[in-house]
Amino acid sequence: MNAQFFTAWVEETARTITADRDRLTALDAAIGDADHGTNLDRGFTAVREALSASSPAGPGAVLILTGTTLIRKVGGASGPLYGTAYRHMGTTLTARAAQAVAGRAGTGLDSTSGAVPGTGIEAPGPGTAGFTGTAGARDEAGPGGAPGDGDHMVMVTLADLAAAFEAGLAAVCELGGAAEGDKTMVDALAPATRALAEAARAGLKPEDAFDAALAAARAGARATIPLQARKGRASYLGERSAGHEDPGAASTVLLFTALRTVAGG
Ligand code: ADP
Ligand code: MG
Ligand code: MG
Repeated sequence: MNAQFFTAWVEETARTITADRDRLTALDAAIGDADHGTNLDRGFTAVREALSASSPAGPGAVLILTGTTLIRKVGGASGPLYGTAYRHMGTTLTARAAQAVAGRAGTGLDSTSGAVPGTGIEAPGPGTAGFTGTAGARDEAGPGGAPGDGDHMVMVTLADLAAAFEAGLAAVCELGGAAEGDKTMVDALAPATRALAEAARAGLKPEDAFDAALAAARAGARATIPLQARKGRASYLGERSAGHEDPGAASTVLLFTALRTVAGG
């Protein structure tokens, strides 16, 4: 998965949020202040504009710009929470790419990636464009063989993406103070992240891994229906928050729907 893949993922997320804006807002009308769909639609519209204005070079940079824009544009709780998640995902991807380059610098060779050292050329991997079939193909050395910032060539593996989601989830939990079962976005994000990590360990193909993550997110969101909210505005309703799906959990499902869509296959 390269920068193009991550841009496509965020753009598809924006598209599906716009399409589902009224449903998300209706969910928030039941247990909140009826703005979740419009909050996210405004935020992701700005994200779309930011991405097309600056076309960030690497996967990490795409997600960091997404997060920063959401924090800036969305006033509700969901803006800082999603924004922080994307920013932590992005910094995790950037750090892992740098580590991979540093690891290779010792040998001057990368026997697993099929990349040609020093040329910036990458052998095409099997399967869907934008995916790498191996764990090794990443940032290429710059001209003259020095590790470059050739972010446009950074390739993210499923294990990288799972680690990024783990970092994003941890950041959301820390910022919002919510745990699973509190009837928030965490109830969808946590099981989906676990499913993705499990799929990466099992060596699943990305589209199968994303299927598993999406199924887990959906199940998690559905499971918020009977719960009583313990965080966010819905918690003000006490027992009356039970019987409705959490809007943030519902929007988290859309992140994974979009991931599955852009993976194709
Ligand atoms: P606001 O509640 O400020 O109007 P939104 O309506 O955009 O913001 O987002 C509401 C969603 O944000 C909730 O459905 C919930 O999933 C999520 N949320 C709210 N507070 C928290 C929190 N402390 N931790 C995690 N998620 C939260
Ligand atoms: Mg709201
Ligand atoms: Mg609000």
